[in-house]
Amino acid sequence: MLGLMQDWPLLLHKIIDHAALQYGGREVVTRSVEGPIHRTNYSQIRDRSLRVAQRLAKDGVKLGDRVATLAWNTWRHLEAWYGIAGVGAVYHTVNPRLFPEQIAWIVNHAQDRVMLLDLTFVQLMESVQDKTPSIERFVVLTDKAHMPQTKLRNAIAYEDWIAEVDGKFEWVEFDENTAAGLCYTSGTTGDPKGVLYSHRSNVLHALQACMKDTLSVSAQDSVLPIVPMFHANAWSLAFSVPLAGAKMVMPGARLDGASVYELLEAEKVTFSAAVPTVWLMLMQHMQTTGAKLTTLNRVAIGGSACPPSMIEYFEERGVTVYHAWGMTEMSPIGTVGAIKPQLAGLPLKDVLGVKSKQGHAIFAVEMKITDDEGNRLPWDGHKFGRLMVKGPAIARRYFKRENEEILDAEGYFDTGDVATIDPNGYMQITDRAKDVIKSGGEWISSIDLENLAVGHPDVAEAAVIGVVHPKWDERPLLIIVPKEGKSPDRDGILKFMDGKIAKWWMPDDVQFVTEIPHTATGKINKLKLRQDFSSYKLPTA
Ligand code: AMP
Repeated sequence: MLGLMQDWPLLLHKIIDHAALQYGGREVVTRSVEGPIHRTNYSQIRDRSLRVAQRLAKDGVKLGDRVATLAWNTWRHLEAWYGIAGVGAVYHTVNPRLFPEQIAWIVNHAQDRVMLLDLTFVQLMESVQDKTPSIERFVVLTDKAHMPQTKLRNAIAYEDWIAEVDGKFEWVEFDENTAAGLCYTSGTTGDPKGVLYSHRSNVLHALQACMKDTLSVSAQDSVLPIVPMFHANAWSLAFSVPLAGAKMVMPGARLDGASVYELLEAEKVTFSAAVPTVWLMLMQHMQTTGAKLTTLNRVAIGGSACPPSMIEYFEERGVTVYHAWGMTEMSPIGTVGAIKPQLAGLPLKDVLGVKSKQGHAIFAVEMKITDDEGNRLPWDGHKFGRLMVKGPAIARRYFKRENEEILDAEGYFDTGDVATIDPNGYMQITDRAKDVIKSGGEWISSIDLENLAVGHPDVAEAAVIGVVHPKWDERPLLIIVPKEGKSPDRDGILKFMDGKIAKWWMPDDVQFVTEIPHTATGKINKLKLRQDFSSYKLPTA
């Protein structure tokens, strides 16, 4: 017997409809790519996203067609997402930090018909447009006054483009399992893989993200999503913030410490989300200028492991840290480190220990850890194994790879991460499976060593890679970027680490560099580091 409740498909445009109706005047503030601060609200965003949908429909863009966006977090980008999905097409977020050839590759794979791009990326696309013939028209996210001279095919300014329709348009209705968004994983090896979100998975994930023990977004908040919309759905904030009716503050192209700080204070931001490297820039700005945070009370930190010293920095200033883990394939949030009731009242030192872990699974994310034979491992906080996940907002296949099975027999997706889970359900990432250092048949976590090294007062950033060793297979090499004006030495660093980890985990050597390479999504690029140090020989070898 089936239930007798209404059929109300979970479609993305229902989110912006709700925001416009219930919180129509709530502000959406952007540091525009053109420069000035721009202010609008959910009611106007909805009206203009309807125009985007109508304008696309006028050009024959239909259900399932892909429309690329190559853009920073701005109000126009937000309108574009709702408009594209609202006509039944798929917003395909392209990461501008990729190499031009990679951009051409994914645009061709996706067969994007239209591309909406920021002024910043006009030159970039001029250089590759000959290699992306599927794009019929380039829409530059600006107005007539700022529209540059460009050779881009059929180029038009966004404001002129949406002015060509009257906005009298109804959202297209379709099944909630219809594709809504496409995002390619950065994949350090092999071709990028497209993750194809559905309306249903995005709406469910937005609801999950708002929950008190996930990101706790409410109408009282002013939220600054620094994490880009081109990186894994901006951790759902483009959906969960309007859904909750919170004020939205968009950073545009400027993500440096001073610009972020200015927005946090000027727009009375209460919650923000970003990867550790962005927070590092903010912390350095605050340290050099003596600036203080007066309204921020929560930050989400994820994308890479958040070092305990960063958690401590924020918590000491009254800002609660949500250490989160997830991935593009998971929409993206999998775990968040909210404190469970059984751990309430712990002294700060122990709270920091719990928060250094990546958190516990949110509702509708099932996790298991397995050994190499696929057997489940216990949640004892010690045994580590492959982290596998299952849920309604987690990929079951990649786009155009229909024959490739990516789930195990129980329907779990292999995250490629190695982790422990403790008896309270808190998961801790040991490493990416391919980054873990295999020494004498045992595993050493590069993340643990990095977290420890950045706790040294003179260290700005640290990375650890495995280097070939004749006796032990691999041994850890610690690579360090010193803080500005500081010159730590090898022995001082090793002495600082000594006693805080098992003896055999101690790095065999320390090298100092001015910069550590990062991937397009802000993670330490270990592949590049391994190449950079390919001719390096350990003193112990
Ligand atoms: P992406 O799909 O680009 O978001 O990358 C996902 C990967 O980033 C995960 O599989 C992890 O390896 C890594 N990652 C994300 N969040 C964290 C975190 N809090 N701690 C450690 N690694 C993380």
